[in-house]
Amino acid sequence: MSEEKKAGKSRQGASQSAKPRKSATRATVVRPSRAEAEDAVRVLLRWAGDDPAREGLIDTPARVTRAYEEFFAGYQVDPREILSRTFSEVDGYDEMIVLKDIRFESYCEHHMVPIIGRAHVAYLPEHRVVGISKLARLVDAFAKRLQIQEKMTAQIADTLNEILQPKGVGVILEAAHQCMSTRGVHKAGVSMVTSRMLGTFRSDPSTRREFLAIVGNPGAMSVANT
Ligand SMILES: [Zn+2]
Repeated sequence: MSEEKKAGKSRQGASQSAKPRKSATRATVVRPSRAEAEDAVRVLLRWAGDDPAREGLIDTPARVTRAYEEFFAGYQVDPREILSRTFSEVDGYDEMIVLKDIRFESYCEHHMVPIIGRAHVAYLPEHRVVGISKLARLVDAFAKRLQIQEKMTAQIADTLNEILQPKGVGVILEAAHQCMSTRGVHKAGVSMVTSRMLGTFRSDPSTRREFLAIVGNPGAMSVANT
């Protein structure tokens, strides 16, 4: 019982049918059929106040369901797998590797509306490096899910740190949240900045400064939550 009371689990359970769930972890969530998902979209169309049977909306449930497969493609990806192929022959390269301005599209887990932003991902290699496109794929693997920005920042940094075991990792995310701009407080043009610094990025101010200088946003640290 206390298990069910834990944050997230109880909310998920409440929105579902009365069927009890032993565990609401991602691996055990039963995916509905496409027809069930399309029916759910029809319900939301009626909730919005429109008629799902009118001509313009007739194919909308099928389109939305397909769009969801793109929006949430990250659930089909194992982020650790992306980083599994590493290269150890780097000819002694031991400087910082930075991929900056990686655009991402994510979705707020509280309102299911877009979070659009940029990620800057850096690490100081110890022995191994990964292909640079893998860093962008790592960002997408976590972005294409229901997220909060703080969690996504930590997941990217922690996965990179765990798999590559570099000397340090730095991740900064800057993003605009449509749940702030199109509803609620209706504040457009606001971006949220989060960061996570591990290893030398946390312990060595000069490494951190170099990273911030490269991404061209040294002011980020004033609002970052390292
Ligand atoms: Zn939100």
